[in-house]
Amino acid sequence: MMRRACPRCNSTKVVMYAGGMTGTYRCMDCDYIGPMTIETEFNRRTLNPHTGKKGCQDN
Ligand SMILES: [Zn+2]
Repeated sequence: MMRRACPRCNSTKVVMYAGGMTGTYRCMDCDYIGPMTIETEFNRRTLNPHTGKKGCQDN
């Protein structure tokens, strides 16, 4: 499962902005508008497919 997360406040309450302009989203919490990080929280709890290590290094 993939989720979008705000790069400023890390909220996942983001919506597509400007009628679906590619890759642009708006954060409902801090009003950030711009490209969003795609978080794969599901994979973060298991193995990172790119490194083969556990991907739990954030915070
Ligand atoms: Zn935000």
